[in-house]
Amino acid sequence: MVDFIGIERVQELVGRLGPARFIEELAGEIEADYLRWREFDKSARHATHSPVGVIELMPACDGQLYAFKYVNGHPKNTAVGLLTVTAFGVLSDVSTGYPLLLSELTLTTALRTAATSALAARRMARPDSRVMALIGNGAQSEFQAIAFHHMLGINEVRLYDTDPAATEKLERNLSALRLKGLRVVRCASIATAVQGADIVTTVTADKRNAIILTPQMIIPGMHLNAVGGDCPGKTELHPDILRRPDVRVVVEFEPQSRIEGEIQQMEPDFVVAELTDVLVGRRPGRVNAREVTIFDSVGFALEDFSSLRYLRRIHQEQRGSQQQIDLVPDLDNPKNLFALLAPEPAAAARTAAVFA
Ligand code: NAD
Repeated sequence: MVDFIGIERVQELVGRLGPARFIEELAGEIEADYLRWREFDKSARHATHSPVGVIELMPACDGQLYAFKYVNGHPKNTAVGLLTVTAFGVLSDVSTGYPLLLSELTLTTALRTAATSALAARRMARPDSRVMALIGNGAQSEFQAIAFHHMLGINEVRLYDTDPAATEKLERNLSALRLKGLRVVRCASIATAVQGADIVTTVTADKRNAIILTPQMIIPGMHLNAVGGDCPGKTELHPDILRRPDVRVVVEFEPQSRIEGEIQQMEPDFVVAELTDVLVGRRPGRVNAREVTIFDSVGFALEDFSSLRYLRRIHQEQRGSQQQIDLVPDLDNPKNLFALLAPEPAAAARTAAVFA
């Protein structure tokens, strides 16, 4: 039998800790795996594009466990009542190749993306950062706000979305959470939201080279958490922001980010650091209070590997709806797979009698 974690089980598991503590614990798991980066078999994800979206497969393996995620990105989906991003994944035992866990990863992707954003920002944003602009108020946005409030001490989020209903929803959800000391401000434009912000999170969905942030909006010392640009031809930053002399860019896995990140707009020799080097301390996340730092996030398979392993552990530890599914046959004789389709012994005898 294979462990199964559906949406309800994730709701139950997150509900026990609350989303802020869950994200923080997950960030710890992700950080621990980034610190042992060299142990992982890594590759850029496999992407299948269509005019309206992308379907991607994301594998990662540390020699003991293997994980993959199936994820889509379809920005026009919300217009017909569907999510832009959905996902599920598998964790397997490398020694047998047997799957150990099949899990939902739609909610989990939002949790792990926020965890990774906050992890990077803890090393890259100015420590006195208190105000964050949040551009794009869709499915991912609450998770980002919660993570930055809890893990970085952000006490004001300034919201903007081209869809006012999305901003209303985010404001409603955040006020229902009653996050201590968090002020939520709705803004009339991207420029007003960004003005005076220490951190700017862009998490919009649009399959084009969008210009969410222009060079005029950026002031020294800002940290940009660019989450929504994650496909070839799908970016959020004006390339001149990346060309600033005082800019420092950190990516997850450079070969994948060259294809999918904001840096796809730059020359191949454009200098970036990888998140692992920043977390290990080999490269700085920021060297002074005036640098503009950019976490050019696209989402990397290691973050899903960490999430699946963490989910499986707490699924096994915590009572509740601990489900398993019969995804793989359980046989007395592994060479007799056909036994699963053969008639029962008694039935077989009856059949034989009929044909005698
Ligand atoms: P969503 O469709 O639920 O929300 C996106 C929001 O962006 C919508 O409310 C939309 O109105 C808004 N928007 C679009 N264009 C805008 C603009 N010009 N200005 C302001 N707002 C604008 O999608 P989501 O699930 O929240 O995902 C957001 C983005 O994040 C997607 O592009 C997705 O691919 C990406 N993503 C990245 C990662 C990662 O690890 N980096 C993980 C998950 C999702």
